[in-house]
Formats: sequence, C-alpha cells, structure tokens
Amino acid sequence: MSYHVLKFGGSNLKKRDDILRIIEVIGKYDTPLVIVVSAFYGVTDMLIEALDRVKTDESAIAPLMDKLLSMKRETLENVLGDDEAVETLYAGIVARTAKLRQYLQGVSFFGDTPDFISDTVLSYGERLSSLMLTSLLRHFGVEAVELIPEALGLITDGEYGNASVDFSRAKPQVKAAIKGKRIVIVPGFYGVSQEGKTTLLGRGGSDYSAAAIARCIDAESLDLFKDVDGFLTGDPRFVDAPRRIEKLSYMESAELSYFGAKILHPRTVEPLREAGIPIRIYNIATVEDLSRPLTTIQKASGIHDDVIKSVTFSDDIGILKLKGAGIGNKPGILSKVSSALDHAGINIKSVITSQTTINILIETAYLASSSQLVRDLELHAVSEIIVEKDISVIAAVGNGIMEKVGLAGRIFTAVSQKGINIEIISVGASPVAAYFIVKRSDRAATIRAIHDEYVK
Ligand code: ASP
Ligand code: MG
Repeated sequence: MSYHVLKFGGSNLKKRDDILRIIEVIGKYDTPLVIVVSAFYGVTDMLIEALDRVKTDESAIAPLMDKLLSMKRETLENVLGDDEAVETLYAGIVARTAKLRQYLQGVSFFGDTPDFISDTVLSYGERLSSLMLTSLLRHFGVEAVELIPEALGLITDGEYGNASVDFSRAKPQVKAAIKGKRIVIVPGFYGVSQEGKTTLLGRGGSDYSAAAIARCIDAESLDLFKDVDGFLTGDPRFVDAPRRIEKLSYMESAELSYFGAKILHPRTVEPLREAGIPIRIYNIATVEDLSRPLTTIQKASGIHDDVIKSVTFSDDIGILKLKGAGIGNKPGILSKVSSALDHAGINIKSVITSQTTINILIETAYLASSSQLVRDLELHAVSEIIVEKDISVIAAVGNGIMEKVGLAGRIFTAVSQKGINIEIISVGASPVAAYFIVKRSDRAATIRAIHDEYVK
C-alpha cells in the first residue's frame, strides 16, 4: 500500500497540545505513514556552538548535556503531567544521550573534531526529537515505530556536512525497511555513507530528508506541516494584502526558496520533481481537511496570464565584483575563482558577468573570506576587487516569465519609475525567475512596486 510522508518541525513537538494535534492529524490519514521530524528549535545551533567550545574546554560538556536533557524533561512533564511514564520515557532519552556524551569527551580529549564526529554530534537534535515523538505516540496508544536512517538504509554520497541521498542504493533498502509498517518515525537531517557513517544533509535539511524518503518509497505525497499559511504572493511586512498561492510548480517553489522564502528548503523539490510526487503544505494549527492544502507544489500546469506568482527577497547576499578590461571574455578566471571558493567550502549563489565585471553572489557570512581568497590568487586579469554589501536580491517568480515578451522589461520600468536604481538584473538563468539586485534601502519599495503592478 502506498504511503504518505509527513514532516513536522521541531517547534511543533514541545507541548501537550502539539502532540495531541499531531495525533489528530495522523488520524486523518487512511494510509500508512512515514513521519520525519527535525530538532527542537535552536538545538542544532546549540550543538554547533558547544562542539566548538568542547574542543578546548571539557567543562563545556556538562552544561550542554544538562540543557538538552532538561529541555526534554520539560516537554515530557508538559505532555504527560505527573504520570509516572515521565520517568520511563525520560530514562530512554538519557540512554540515547550516553553516546553523545562519549563523542564529546572524545572531541575534548583529542582537541579536534573530525568531520564524521561533527556530523554525528549535530545529528543528535533530530535523534532526540524522533525518540521523543515515538515514545509519546506509543504512550498515547499510536502504534509508531522509530527507524533511524541507519536502519532505513538512507544511503548518501558520503559528503560530510552536505550530503545528497544516493537513490540507486537507498531506494531498495528504504523500501524494504518500511514495508508492512503502519507508522514509521524517522529523524531528519542525516543519512549514512556507504561505510555507515552519519552524513548531514545540509543545514535545514530535514525537509530534504523527508523528500528523499518520499522518493525512495514512491509516496503519494510529501506533506509539510508548518507554522505559516503556505506560500504567499509577497512578504506581508512589505506588501498590502498578499494572497496565498494555491499552486506552484516544482521549479517556481525551488526558485522562491533559493533566494528567500523560508518556508521550504530549496533542495526539497529535487528528489520529487522527476517522480512527480506532490508537496502539500499545511498550517499545523488550522489543518482540517487534507484534501485542501494551503499550497500544493506539483508539475507546472502551463503558462497563464498572471505569470508572476510571487516576489521574494534575500538580504543574506553580497557581491564580490572582479573588475578588469575584457574580464568577461577571458577564459579560466571563473574556474580558478570558483575552485578556490569551492575548496574553502564557500557556496557561490550565482554569477553574473559582463564584459568588464564578474559579479559573484555570496552569502554575507563568507564575503570577507571570499574576497581574501580571490586576492590571494593574484589574477592578472583582475584589476580591482570590490565587495558590495547592504544590497538585497529580489526574485520575481512565475512559470512563463521568460516566454512573456517584454515582461522583464516592464518590471524593470515599474521599479525605475519609483526612482529606484537596479544595480544588477538577471533574467534567463532560470526559466521561471527574474532577479534584481537593489540597495537594501530600496528593497521594500522594489518588492511593493513589482507586487502591486504584476502580482494580481
Ligand atoms: N536541525 C537541522 C538544522 O537546524 C535541520 C532542520 O532543521 O531541518 O539545520
Ligand atoms: Mg527546518
């Protein structure tokens, strides 16, 4: 029988009402389910920070463990009151943290964190969430079983910190592991390398975990339960009365997520697109009828008149400008720069070139180090390196945006009529999105101008 895959965020697992709500939602399905969970809010960041401190200071282990455990205990008490089950379930949580403590002791002993240890330690937020949810569901009589990615055979390409699922290897194993089970709970955020080592699927990666599992088992759908009302046509902080978008194509949602919309991890659509498995988004607080998701992401339904579906933005971007006469035509420069950045683990968000400038878009946290790396390359063709901050990238997204003659130009005009100077414009890199870079101070006005004019 075919499954639905559900994903719940870590902020929806903490209180009695959260758990009762999850049970209510599960009850709405008449198929077997796989439920993927992420870490409690803030736990992954807490682990990252602690791991760094533990390297040089063993005394940082105890407060971390205390904090993690007291957080879990608080949830158990909140959900179960003074039921004696609190002690039993808490003992299970404590047992699961025993290995975490040992890993941390190893890190402090060696004063070093090899990648496989780092990935293992950081996966504990999810490992604890899934144990917690499984135990609580079972306490309330829901027959759930936990299958961690090791037991599932969720095999990855083995890249630490940012792995991808290896579908040809994972698919048969995941299918076999899940077969016949009614409700399976899985910790998100990691898979295992062929050697059986924990490999993280990138920050925010549990949406991707859920999508990958859905793909492995040819699920009916991937259902994401969020705290918000699906995708909107614009950010309510900047536009008046944004509307909810009921349908998006895979590509549109990927573009919206890549530069802005926080609701979906940009890699979520990747495993599902080819298989045509829909993503349905619900607000956990209000879901009544599963057949009416807030937003459904599926195959494009074709081009239509209101081609711009949504305007989104990101402030977490800066430009590294490499200037030089004819630089746009000189072969090899971009490959040197991109391999230097790649070696340093820095991700290039986008590249826009002209005859005299290569503009490299990079997340703000890596701007300074990228510019230093490029300086160190001492490239002759580059006469000047400029770092531009305080900008925003605006994305206008809609299927058919490229086919519609003159549309990009009209957007451009709408924005410039407000007296806004567009620093860079990029259309064509994606068939469903047009990007503009403007000064941060012009961001809100730009979004409003495009939204009011074209998003109907
Ligand atoms: N807990 C992980 C993170 O914070 C994964 C996730 O939340 O999806 O990156
Ligand atoms: Mg998340």
